[in-house]
Amino acid sequence: MKLLEHQAKAQFRQVGIDCPMGRVAHTPEQAAHVARELGRVVIKAQVPIGGRGKAGGVKLAGSEEEARRAAEQILGMDIKGYTVPAVLCEEALEIARELYLGVALDRDRRSLVVMLSFAGGMEIEEVAETAPEKIAKLWPDPFAGPQPYEIRRLALDALSAVGGDEAMPKSRLLVQLVPLVQSLYALCQRLDATLCEINPLVITATQRLIAGDGKIEIDQNAEFRHHDLVKELGDDQGAADSGEDRLEVEAKRRGLTYVHLGGDVGVIGNGAGLVMNTLDLVKQHGGEPANFLDIGGGAKAEVVRNALEMVLLDPQVKGIFVNIFGGITRGDEVANGVIEARDQLGIRVPLVVRMTGTREEEGRKILEEAGIVPAISAPEAAQKIVELVARSGERG
Ligand code: GDP
Ligand code: MN
Repeated sequence: MKLLEHQAKAQFRQVGIDCPMGRVAHTPEQAAHVARELGRVVIKAQVPIGGRGKAGGVKLAGSEEEARRAAEQILGMDIKGYTVPAVLCEEALEIARELYLGVALDRDRRSLVVMLSFAGGMEIEEVAETAPEKIAKLWPDPFAGPQPYEIRRLALDALSAVGGDEAMPKSRLLVQLVPLVQSLYALCQRLDATLCEINPLVITATQRLIAGDGKIEIDQNAEFRHHDLVKELGDDQGAADSGEDRLEVEAKRRGLTYVHLGGDVGVIGNGAGLVMNTLDLVKQHGGEPANFLDIGGGAKAEVVRNALEMVLLDPQVKGIFVNIFGGITRGDEVANGVIEARDQLGIRVPLVVRMTGTREEEGRKILEEAGIVPAISAPEAAQKIVELVARSGERG
């Protein structure tokens, strides 16, 4: 789950990280009201995606009237497919320098990594691409957490990478940065987050460190450990998008293990390993898998139908590869399940079914008679489905 900026900042405040004062507004009127209280404000679109600044979703307002107008412009705006349902109105910061601070899951190192850069702000992606040395990194011991001396070294590395900084004396910076990094790291661990990010981490004109933005992503596989929080935040996001893939949300509702991958060859199999292998085979034969879908052990007709229906909710899917490794699962039963599902759902895209197991020959015969392409080996099936999908593409 991706938290909205104001939700992330509420989490930051709980661990003592400084954030600007502010409130969420759903109407231009409310935004003007907040500006009356806070004076100069920044009006920020609350959507679960970055790059709002460049998209025009962050605007400074020096008066009530300007706040109202900025909110009017931003509310309802489309930012990368998200319609803005609310804005955060915060006291505007006097920015002397924008830093980047992030704690993220580093899958290669199997631990969290702390990243700090003095070249923060809206160009951080470009910095990561073209000048990665400007982002200093630290992989703390996960049990001990980042130690003060490690954080000081991280800060000095980040500083020297940009040739120093005038916005704040080193000692003043370090004294604020050490507890800040420790808090953010602890928060990331406690929330089972894959990302806790502050960009920009602002050095203000008065030499304070304040979180100018906030991004938190909670690992979906750990959401059950944060049930209340996830529910509360989800309810609060309401009709707004949770940032999750719509198809994956629907799959979760149906109790299916599904990952949307974006290609056009739908994939269904029983067993995670088998499905991953199936994805590889589709790729090897020049196709692009649309999804991962594991229906688990066995292959009851009803489960197969549910899975086929799920895969077809993806409008990109131009063909489906069903790969069932049966032991005691009976091939004729699987075949009948697939046919029944196809007829009930009115499936028109090509279907290739590879299955092994008890009575597999009977199963293949049933499929063939019903106009579904059977296959004995998985590579053969992959080749067939990729061909069929390519051909359907040529036909338009
Ligand atoms: P993002 O583009 O979605 O990451 O949104 P941010 O919250 O990071 O805002 C983008 C940019 O707007 C920041 O990098 C700042 O340069 C600017 N900005 C955000 N808040 C303030 C503020 O309070 N005062 C000033 N002067 N600029 C701000
Ligand atoms: Mn940002």
